[in-house]
Amino acid sequence: TINAEVIGVGTELLLGQIANTNAQWISQQLAVLGIHVYHHSVVGDNLERCSQTFQTAHNRSNLVIVTGGLGPTEDDMTRDAAQSIFGQKLVTDEESMERIEHFYVKNNQPMSPNNRKQALVFEHADVLQNLEGMAPGMIVQHESTAWVFLPGVPSEMKFLMNQHVLPFLKDRFQLEAEIASEMLRFIGIGESQLEHDLADIIQSQTNPTIAPLASEGEVGLRLTAKAASSEEAKRLIETAKTRILAVAGEYYYGSDNITIEEKVLKMLQDRGWSIASAESLTGGRFMDRLVSIPGASSVCNGAIVAYSAEVKERVLEVPKFLLKKYGTVSEECASCMVLNVQSMLESDVAVSFTGVAGPDAVEGHEAGTVYIGLQLKDQQPIIRKFHFTGRREQIRNRAVKKALEMIFH
Ligand code: ATP
Ligand code: MG
Repeated sequence: TINAEVIGVGTELLLGQIANTNAQWISQQLAVLGIHVYHHSVVGDNLERCSQTFQTAHNRSNLVIVTGGLGPTEDDMTRDAAQSIFGQKLVTDEESMERIEHFYVKNNQPMSPNNRKQALVFEHADVLQNLEGMAPGMIVQHESTAWVFLPGVPSEMKFLMNQHVLPFLKDRFQLEAEIASEMLRFIGIGESQLEHDLADIIQSQTNPTIAPLASEGEVGLRLTAKAASSEEAKRLIETAKTRILAVAGEYYYGSDNITIEEKVLKMLQDRGWSIASAESLTGGRFMDRLVSIPGASSVCNGAIVAYSAEVKERVLEVPKFLLKKYGTVSEECASCMVLNVQSMLESDVAVSFTGVAGPDAVEGHEAGTVYIGLQLKDQQPIIRKFHFTGRREQIRNRAVKKALEMIFH
């Protein structure tokens, strides 16, 4: 197995002046290849500590990728620190030297002797020509560890990774490089509940790997499989997907780029059902989300945005006594809104929203209190009360998401 480690060299990383995005990006690339990264290290521009960090990496990892510290200045220590481990001579790489000289000639700048340092490479290194910058990258095999040295500048680092390092790793570690992946999308179940329900599968599964990802009222599971052929990788995904859906299928609404509103629109289309909404705190956003999808006209009848109590009464015909007795933020109001909009706009399905988007309380209800009404054909209306957390916009978005989820279920 491969124990990989990514080391960032540079005091600016330790000072927090820049984030170690190199390690992040490199780790993502290695994960796709199925290489496990066990350590991220960061060390400043200090020879002794740099050498120590390298020695530790050498002892515990068989793939070490180092970024930074290959520049021309005194504080660029990576070569010196690595030399203390390799004991290899540093020699000038002529091709890199020419490129560096050419750069200075072209830019009409004097070249300092320091710049020659950037062309120094270990005598037994594979030199990775840096067409995006000056210092070349290197791959050095020392004892049982493969070392990769890359410049700190992200664009140069990425160029060398894509051009040389990733192909080298595939070859060197004989990685089955065909990858298939699928994002399974779930709604109506929390991330921790889903992980709990699937714990056995998630823990026993290594190919594909399963990575949960929660966002805005939904949960995704990213399945990534690797195999000798892409057909085989896809088959592995299918098998795992079947196991997962046997447990959590009722919450699954689709894969990859589908959204819940697309799914809901498709369900309505399949049944030949039209939809209308009566929206207070969402201000039309629910219908807007559906109408954003091509083909919405076959399903969407319209929306009545009834924000003030006065419009709820005059346009949506919510009786005055009801508003007086129960208030606008009430089950009764949501129920009346959904029934009335269904008949006024002659739809099969209707949804209503009334509640408090915040930040202030309304009628004694705190921000985030939302009633959503759902009316399917001539069934009894379903009214649910929610307490959403977050700021005004989040509360409004969550209400919309929840209504989509209610229709889906
Ligand atoms: P060069 O040889 O091209 O001068 P270098 O190997 O000397 O590069 P550094 O001097 O350490 O690299 O870094 C150059 C710049 O690259 C830094 O100023 C920083 O903006 C960026 N950089 C360095 N390390 C990282 C990192 N780990 N993540 C993101 N950016 C980085
Ligand atoms: Mg530098």
